[in-house]
Amino acid sequence: MTPTDAYAELVRRSKEVGVLNSCAAVLGWDQQTYMPTSGAGLRGEQMALLAALAHQKVTDPKVGDLLAAVEGSDLVREPESDAAANARELRRTYDRAAKLPQALVEELARVTTQAQQAWQAAKAGNDFPTFRPWLEKVVALKYEEAGAVGFTGHPYNALIDEYEPGTTVAELKELFAGLTRELVPLIRKITDSPKRPDRSILHHDYPVDRQKVFAEAAAVAFGFDFTAGRLDTTAHPFCSGFGPGDCRITTRYNARSFPDAFFGVLHETGHALYEQNLPAEHFGTPLGAACSFGIHESQSRLWENQVGRGRPFWDHFFPRLRQTFPTALAKVSPDAFHFAVNDVRLSLIRVEADEATYNLHIALRFELELALLTGDLLVGDLPAAWNERVKALLGLDVPDDTRGCLQDIHWSFGGIGYFPTYTLGNLYASQLMAAARKDLGPAAVDADFRRGEFQPLKSWLTDRVHRHGQRYRAGDLCRRATGEPLSPRPFLSYLNEKYCPLYGVC
Ligand code: ZN
Repeated sequence: MTPTDAYAELVRRSKEVGVLNSCAAVLGWDQQTYMPTSGAGLRGEQMALLAALAHQKVTDPKVGDLLAAVEGSDLVREPESDAAANARELRRTYDRAAKLPQALVEELARVTTQAQQAWQAAKAGNDFPTFRPWLEKVVALKYEEAGAVGFTGHPYNALIDEYEPGTTVAELKELFAGLTRELVPLIRKITDSPKRPDRSILHHDYPVDRQKVFAEAAAVAFGFDFTAGRLDTTAHPFCSGFGPGDCRITTRYNARSFPDAFFGVLHETGHALYEQNLPAEHFGTPLGAACSFGIHESQSRLWENQVGRGRPFWDHFFPRLRQTFPTALAKVSPDAFHFAVNDVRLSLIRVEADEATYNLHIALRFELELALLTGDLLVGDLPAAWNERVKALLGLDVPDDTRGCLQDIHWSFGGIGYFPTYTLGNLYASQLMAAARKDLGPAAVDADFRRGEFQPLKSWLTDRVHRHGQRYRAGDLCRRATGEPLSPRPFLSYLNEKYCPLYGVC
């Protein structure tokens, strides 16, 4: 078989796995939106069969032979060519899957399924001791996984590779240290300010049907293609890109609160714009897939926060919002509304945190999961360590574990290494937005937004980020898109420029 034939066969097999995975995605979406509860048993069997088929195809030794044939050929001479990029990423997936013993994969699936149930009950009942043995098992298995995959330096490097290939503990430690050093005093200044927004204006009667129409209009303005996507209702909002022509987003509505659904829709729209603008011809191969979790999250945060909580955006949308919700907003000024959606306050819950305090929640999780993995922190000591870090970083007392170390699902499903991608997303979002402003002209970008025109920004993101799929690793993609390696600087400048005038500080 010639290398060209080997590559064609590799792509054919990869696309087949892509189609299988997209079938699972359709079933997963249905499960969280419309499936009747009695369908859960059959759905479990359907999902397990699809996962097993995909796993067989990914780990088929023939894939290793095909990869070897391509890697030893001229096809990969240019490291950023289609073949080289696809071979590089398929090799990463293949090696990782091949190195994991079947018994470990099965044990992880079994334990994390039960651990999630135990976590749910423990969180509901504020009962860490019942979750403790499950978390101990998960941590031990993830440590075993890191050993099986192999790593240099910290075992966490093997785990984060699943979410953010190429990123290391050393880089992240430096990033979080720099970020925390500057965030803590800035947040203190903001929260010490006597100027406070009136948040109550966001919690009036906001009829759900009108919320839906309004959120859909904003999604369309950003560029979401409703002929290739849908917006539905679910308990836990998400975006699922099935593949070319079909991307689903979801949200949940609260008739007494405007921001929950609205900013959730903007967030998921950001994810969806990435999915809808990946190169369709590469669907099923790495070139047709998102670069990393951090880059994916950068797209959602950019549209939700950088655009959607900005004054130019509301200059366009607020008059329309007041027309849509006259009872709630008749007496509310644009200034008061904009201030309310940019409320900064120290809080215990990550998912409720504003963009200034959010990364401190991630910094503490990153620090604790590093220590758990190496055994420097024992699972039994987690609640005390958590509470101590919350006091040090946020100055708050944690009243119970439900609002402390039990609040997030991630560790129960084995997602050690996942949290930092949220912060990476925030940082990439700021850096990309700063670069887009520079390229498109800062005044032009704001003038566009005031007219409800977001196409130039979307096109810029498609050109710099979306269309490349996994051709470049996240760090390289950032350098190419923005001219600089990832830095917390643009994010910190953005926070200062936005919040200092709002709160009358600095
Ligand atoms: Zn997201």
